Amino acid sequence: MKTVNHWIGGKAVEGASGTYGPVTDPATGVETTRVAFASADEVDAAVAAARAAFATWGGSSLAARTAVLFRYRALLDAHRDELARLITAEHGKVHADALGEVARGLEIVELACGITTQLKGELSTQVSGGVDVAAIRQPLGVVAGITPFNFPAMVPMWMFPLAIACGNTFVLKPSEKDPSAAFRLAELAAEAGLPDGVLNIVNGDRTAVDALLAHPDVAAVSFVGSTPIARHIFTTGTANGKRVQALGGAKNHMLVLPDADLDAAADAAVSAAYGSAGERCMAVSAVVAVGGTGDELVAKIRDRATKIRIGPGDDPASEMGPLITKAHRDKVASYVAGAAAQGAEVVLDGTGHTVEGYENGHWIGLSLLDKVPTDADAYRDEIFGPVLCVLRAETYEEGLALINGSPWGNGTAIFTRDGSAARRFQLEVEAGMVGVNVPIPVPVGYHSFGGWKDSLFGAHHIYGNDGVHFYTRGKVVTTRWPDPAESSVDLGFPSHR
Ligand code: NAD
Repeated sequence: MKTVNHWIGGKAVEGASGTYGPVTDPATGVETTRVAFASADEVDAAVAAARAAFATWGGSSLAARTAVLFRYRALLDAHRDELARLITAEHGKVHADALGEVARGLEIVELACGITTQLKGELSTQVSGGVDVAAIRQPLGVVAGITPFNFPAMVPMWMFPLAIACGNTFVLKPSEKDPSAAFRLAELAAEAGLPDGVLNIVNGDRTAVDALLAHPDVAAVSFVGSTPIARHIFTTGTANGKRVQALGGAKNHMLVLPDADLDAAADAAVSAAYGSAGERCMAVSAVVAVGGTGDELVAKIRDRATKIRIGPGDDPASEMGPLITKAHRDKVASYVAGAAAQGAEVVLDGTGHTVEGYENGHWIGLSLLDKVPTDADAYRDEIFGPVLCVLRAETYEEGLALINGSPWGNGTAIFTRDGSAARRFQLEVEAGMVGVNVPIPVPVGYHSFGGWKDSLFGAHHIYGNDGVHFYTRGKVVTTRWPDPAESSVDLGFPSHR
């Protein structure tokens, strides 16, 4: 069996804690790999390596940093397929989807290649007689990243490329469920010439996370995962004096107005609800059908959903793969099983789905629940599986109130042909990312990604300009080169002349 260890100081370091976790191929249910779980001492070793590397990397030239990043970009491009296969083997998503994940992560490496422009700073000359002011941004030091299972390559790439481009050094704690892709990202970074210790990986569970949160040499923490853990990371990290951005879970609503093209809306709903088996933080998990569109829309969604081919991610014929673990599969199934008793109409029940030849895989089919009451568990919780809830609203206002009543505010979308309704929605909806006839509005790399309310704790969204701000701190330098002949003592508060 393969073992995934830690990556510290530019090389693989065998786990010393004696504790390992299982990594399973979700399509077969077979444990293929074990992953080392770091103790607090091993976390300390990774932070020490990062701290030592910061002494030179923090002051390295932009040219030196971007030279590495351009080489890294080329290597990642050449290894897209290999990375996608690692993702599929441990996460289960289909190969095309895994390739999409790598491409969206690569986008942030490309953004980091252009860090020269982002870190240009600002200069005001002659703000007062003979006085200039320069605003510069400097790295924080050692930054930690803690990432979820559902994007084992992309979410780490949301963080470390930009963090290191800004001059920080990094300690990543990937998800213990699918750690191989992140490990390969670190190996390729070393191959690109990244100096030892600039990027480190500690694998593990909450022991490793808590050690990072408590470590005095960790200046900032980027977290992506579920809402309860995001809240814990934010509260603990900030209490320990760290800068924290913690992105949490979601329940993303798609509002369908009566004038929308219902075929296009149904295509979008099926793609966004069931892609990656619903294991996306930007998945559409609730459709709000406005003004009598519900029956027709549900029929169109059902027709499309029944045609989706479910199978192992490495089979090119598969459109949807298995869920990450057996326990998660069973939890997702329980929401469908309980939905009717809580007042929903079960239009499609995918809980009995199996795949021939893969009887021990974590399979579940597509489920569609209609007329779901807002107090039903299937609506109130983030299910994170291929279960789509449809709710009905008489008017735009009623639909909007429903969406804004959700504790989450990650992504949302409106489907309509009415530009003024779409514009109103953009301004009135309480969510961080809005799609207009776009069901999964994940911002491009040079715009930032982040939700509102319980979908994000902290002041900064991730990547884009917010990412650069998060990974740097500002400094303002006020300069005068006075003529010694004009120098005098002046006890007044500095004011402009
Ligand atoms: P998770 O919260 O269970 O785990 C995320 C990370 O936190 C992992 O590295 C895990 O090891 C660690 N962790 C888990 N429990 C911990 C604890 N008690 N203390 C300290 N650390 C702990 O999330 P997951 O199941 O891996 O991922 C799915 C979740 O992530 C969903 O809720 C999804 O919406 C969310 N997500 C959000 C975004 C976003 O951008 N907002 C993106 C992707 C995923």
